[in-house]
Amino acid sequence: MHNIFIIYTGGTIGMVKDPDTGTFVPFDFELIARNLPDLARLNYKLTVHSFTPIIDSSNMKPSIWVEMAQIIKNNYDHYDGFVILHGSDTMSFSASILSFMLEGLQKPVILSGSQLPIGEIRTDARENMMTALEIASAKENGKSIIQEVCILFDNKLFRGNRSFKYNSAKFEAFRSPNYPVLAEAGIHINYNREALLDNTDKQFIMHTQLDNHVGVLKLFPGISPKFIQSILDADVRSIVMETFGSGNTMTDGWFLEMLAKAVDRGKNILDISQCKVGSVELGRYETSQGLKAIGILNGYDMTFEAAVTKLMYLQGHFKDQESVAFWIEQDIRGELTVND
Ligand code: ASP
Repeated sequence: MHNIFIIYTGGTIGMVKDPDTGTFVPFDFELIARNLPDLARLNYKLTVHSFTPIIDSSNMKPSIWVEMAQIIKNNYDHYDGFVILHGSDTMSFSASILSFMLEGLQKPVILSGSQLPIGEIRTDARENMMTALEIASAKENGKSIIQEVCILFDNKLFRGNRSFKYNSAKFEAFRSPNYPVLAEAGIHINYNREALLDNTDKQFIMHTQLDNHVGVLKLFPGISPKFIQSILDADVRSIVMETFGSGNTMTDGWFLEMLAKAVDRGKNILDISQCKVGSVELGRYETSQGLKAIGILNGYDMTFEAAVTKLMYLQGHFKDQESVAFWIEQDIRGELTVND
């Protein structure tokens, strides 16, 4: 008998149409259980914790992430795995932050949801939920096959901190172009063994200190110096700068000077690319050479979601900027590939 803990946060999977307004609103777990009579036939002992209130994931926030991590920690020893039912809109943010908060995880934490509510005839919820449960219980030689935080959607298992929501209209809602799919479900579930994290020799440690003093500067041709300055002056410790191509920016003197001054004032500025595939390569072009010289940090091939949440985690963990700057460039949970 597999022992699985389900955390129900909300999302489309458990929504119903409000008859008055016609909009989807969150509904309790009973709706899911009622629409999945097969759950009772499975060889699983399921324990369900529903959040109150259950939410559309656009309302996700750090305090809920802390609650989720705490529930996993409190129940860690008694369950084979964890399934988190979650709206797809911010699922990659939650999967990313949980990967940082749950260090040395030796059990699966699988986030899943659906594009259509479970009560709809063509719903993708049943497939997603059943496959998530199967993966959350999969073991080999007494050890969990999956020892990390993942997203299961449309028969594919992704590393959580490598994924992002890519499509709001198709069942194939997620992608992780910079890291291979961890498993694919067809007639069998085929695991991509070389791509999986193995934390067997690690110690499980939960971290709950998060510091959300993080800002974002997305560059575009013609962006005004005043606007850039306002972002650099914001009350944040770190700024994720979304750049062009392989990490390139304008080379105007005023721009580099503004960045350099912000770095001197103690701001961490992290270069990640607006491209979804590929990596930042500081110094590959003249247009990124100057950035390295003034202390801009290399985000390599991190997703936006991983970059923002990793900074929240590191800032919660380290009070000094130097440690945040050092660790943001290191691969700590399989979230980036260093290319130099
Ligand atoms: N808006 C919904 C949410 O993120 C979408 C979904 O569940 O897929 O909660």
